[in-house]
Amino acid sequence: MNIHEYQAKELLAKFGVPVPAGFAAMSADEAVEAAAKLPGPLYVVKAQIHAGGRGKGKFKELGPDAKGGVRLAKTADEVRAAANDMLGNTLVTVQTGEHGKQVNRLYVTDGVDIAKEFYLALLVDRVSGRVALVASTEGGMDIETVAHDTPEKIHSFAVDPATGFMPHHGRAVANALGLKGDLAKQAANVSAKLYDAFMGTDAAQIEINPLALTTDGKLMVLDAKVGFDSNALFRHKDLLALRDETEEDPSELEASKYDLAYIKLDGDIGCMVNGAGLAMATMDIIKLNGMFPANFLDVGGGANKEKVTAAFKIILADPAVKGILVNIFGGIMKCDIIAEGIVAAAKEVNLSVPLVVRLEGTNVEEGKKILSTSGLAIVPANDLGDAARKIVAEVKKAA
Ligand code: GDP
Ligand code: MG
Repeated sequence: MNIHEYQAKELLAKFGVPVPAGFAAMSADEAVEAAAKLPGPLYVVKAQIHAGGRGKGKFKELGPDAKGGVRLAKTADEVRAAANDMLGNTLVTVQTGEHGKQVNRLYVTDGVDIAKEFYLALLVDRVSGRVALVASTEGGMDIETVAHDTPEKIHSFAVDPATGFMPHHGRAVANALGLKGDLAKQAANVSAKLYDAFMGTDAAQIEINPLALTTDGKLMVLDAKVGFDSNALFRHKDLLALRDETEEDPSELEASKYDLAYIKLDGDIGCMVNGAGLAMATMDIIKLNGMFPANFLDVGGGANKEKVTAAFKIILADPAVKGILVNIFGGIMKCDIIAEGIVAAAKEVNLSVPLVVRLEGTNVEEGKKILSTSGLAIVPANDLGDAARKIVAEVKKAA
């Protein structure tokens, strides 16, 4: 789960991370009121969307010469003008995709005078299996470009979970950023606080870009992208309140209501599978047979009729889906129960595309019988390879 910049900064501030003062605003009036509460003389009006690259982004409605989603303002009128330009309009950045994202919230912050911009992130490094600090002197830039063009400018330090964050990690970050003396201490302090925030919230990523050095010698977090491990959110009920559902893919949002692990993909074959590993294997074998999966969907170990119906509806709501492959291994969940769910769901949603079902495991014979006597045009499959071949053939036949 990702959150907005203003939420991220408020959260980080609670862990002692230095951020400029600021207030969220939902209207131009609120933006002006927010600025009035800040010391001035410089304000920054920032579009709040779950995507980076806002500064260099373009608003669809404003034409190519208009400024992007991060604007400096010196007067209340400039704050109002910036707010009016952004609210309700669609911001397209390198991270939003071509459709862009509508701006419904703003963040008005105290503008700082920047001497230099750095990059500092914390993430879970899958190779070392540890939380890693990633630091670069090339702040304010697109880090993917830095990684591609000048990988030697990105430094990464993994933290041993047994020791946690140690003073040497702080020194390593300061060193990577070329900071000495008091600034090195500040860099170490920010790193330690960010690590506390990361561990304390079960974050999946904290990306600070830029971490700014102000002209009066302070390190400040000017932009923060924070995402949490969704599987740990049950431990953080307070963080759940930060969720902005308007930023999420509608079908993924619907799936999350039924506790279904669903990810939208670009192919034609809708997949309904139990178990993430089996779901991955199912997607692989569809590709092996020349077509592409329309989604990843793990209905989980305890799927019932309601879940299966919801899963079917979500898959079918995707206009790209030309066929559905159900691949269920009945372990804890029995095949006959699943078959009943599939039949009920297929009837309820008025199935309009070919459906291939592969069942295996507990009560498989009863399950197969329920499918074959259902009166529905369900194509049974015997194993994974058979299922993939059949759904590809059925979709080609229907085309
Ligand atoms: P992003 O474009 O979505 O990454 O948004 P950022 O919050 O990172 O802002 C983009 C750029 O705007 C930063 O890299 C800074 O150069 C600039 N910027 C942001 N806040 C301030 C500020 O308080 N003062 C000044 N002078 N520039 C700022
Ligand atoms: Mg940024």
